[in-house]
Amino acid sequence: MTFTPHGKHLIAGEWVGGAATFTSAPAHGPAHDFALGSVDLVNRACDAAEEAFWTYGYSSRAERAAFLDAIADEIEARAEAITQIGTQETGLPEARLNGERGRTTGQLRLFADHIRKGAYLDHRVDAALPDRQPAPRPEIVMLQRPIGPVAVFGASNFPLAFSTAGGDTAAALAAGCPVVVKGHSAHPGTGEIIAEAIHAAIAKTGMPKGVFSLIQGGNRQVGEALVQHPFIKAVGFTGSLAGGRALFDLCAARPEPIPFFGELGSVNPMFMLPGAMAARAEALGTGWAGSLTMGAGQFCTNPGIAVVLDGKDADTFVAATKAALEKVAPQTMLTDGIAKAYNDGQARFVASNAVNSVLETESTGRAVSPNLFETTADAFLNDHGLSQEVFGPLGLVVRVGSVEAMRELARGFEGQLTSTMHMDSSDLAAAQGLLPILERKSGRVLVNGFPTGVEVVDSMVHGGPYPASTNFGATSVGTLSIRRFLRPVSYQNLPQDLLPEDARG
Ligand code: NAP
Repeated sequence: MTFTPHGKHLIAGEWVGGAATFTSAPAHGPAHDFALGSVDLVNRACDAAEEAFWTYGYSSRAERAAFLDAIADEIEARAEAITQIGTQETGLPEARLNGERGRTTGQLRLFADHIRKGAYLDHRVDAALPDRQPAPRPEIVMLQRPIGPVAVFGASNFPLAFSTAGGDTAAALAAGCPVVVKGHSAHPGTGEIIAEAIHAAIAKTGMPKGVFSLIQGGNRQVGEALVQHPFIKAVGFTGSLAGGRALFDLCAARPEPIPFFGELGSVNPMFMLPGAMAARAEALGTGWAGSLTMGAGQFCTNPGIAVVLDGKDADTFVAATKAALEKVAPQTMLTDGIAKAYNDGQARFVASNAVNSVLETESTGRAVSPNLFETTADAFLNDHGLSQEVFGPLGLVVRVGSVEAMRELARGFEGQLTSTMHMDSSDLAAAQGLLPILERKSGRVLVNGFPTGVEVVDSMVHGGPYPASTNFGATSVGTLSIRRFLRPVSYQNLPQDLLPEDARG
């Protein structure tokens, strides 16, 4: 089955074209024209979302769960076409697109189950105390309620799992919030076919049409207008620090500020403790190279920095990493812009006096190869740029003189999505010294693993202190992410029949 995009936006149940268009830039296959987003479309989508909230926000959990399951079914029904357009637009391999589709439908079904169970409502009841002295206490009931329409920015690096029907959309719809998606211009056709699946699920389950709209990108004003629209009550975003910060600032400057849940990236440091290095430096180097180059390094959890104790084991580790990286064939990056940002980052390292090149490669167009550099603790601490993310397969080894110096270095890191320790039982004391620092810096702390590969489960935290995310109290992966789109309401002294259904005793 060949999918040819029609290039239209989906605004509250209608496919809307326009005279102004942009042309997609696929990694391979034909380019297509797509209608350009506009402020007018943002207004129409947000008005419809607000209108839909008055029914969708008060729908039952069972109805919303059936809707989420229907979206998953409709995505599966288009599996082959999704993989076809997705691989063309992003250059990601077929197996990755298939896996990501499974993750996307899995997330939708996980949220369906999550809301059916109802524990997320955090329903609390403080019974009335009519005889309390000196004054009686009324009954107080608390429940988490949906916040209203939510804006979602599709991510370039996850065309399915963090885009049109990705984690942010699934969490918002599960909570009871209509969603307006600003599609990423790197994969507009993939966005369109997923919007078709949601459109079909809306028809199948009788949901209000304004519950979902997709506005294709191509125009900065779309994102700006969307986050500033008075009906939008929160934003989910995955992307660059610069873009995320600009949109976050717009949200804060609104007459009614709203939360901006931005997931902005990380260097995800790994601390290689001496016992583990003595036992398996070579395997650790090979393992790191695999994680660093997975998906051309285009993961927010890519471990870009390894901190090691200087010495023989560090030499073995660096040599093994280099040998494994040399075997990796050039990989296609998601967009020309991302490839350019990677090459600029590499050039910054090459030009720096603070690092030595271990493996320096040339890139051609969107096809890039891994790079590896090393530096010392002093040089690293003196050059803030070395601790900044280079999105792609670029690794930096920091050699330190002692475990104490490792702790010192850890204290210097900004907020991270993840931090990792590789350790053996002999490293326990060193790990105990590092843990309080890593925990303070990161959303997720790992031992003896690599942070790429984020499980979508109840206990997952994919977030962390700024700049890893703009809200350290939130996660954008896992069922806890629904909390971003809920707010607690207390109902004091309401008769049972007036309480929301979920709050009745
Ligand atoms: P991006 O430039 O931040 O763009 C993400 C989305 O935000 C796009 O829809 C973009 O719209 C919009 N946007 C960005 N800046 C904006 C602004 N000032 N005003 C209004 N809208 C704005 O991210 P990207 O395109 O995905 O990739 C660029 C870089 O982001 C990469 O090189 C990488 O460094 C980083 N990145 C990080 C992660 C991560 O996981 N943390 C993921 C992907 C990318 P337009 O497309 O219309 O400009």
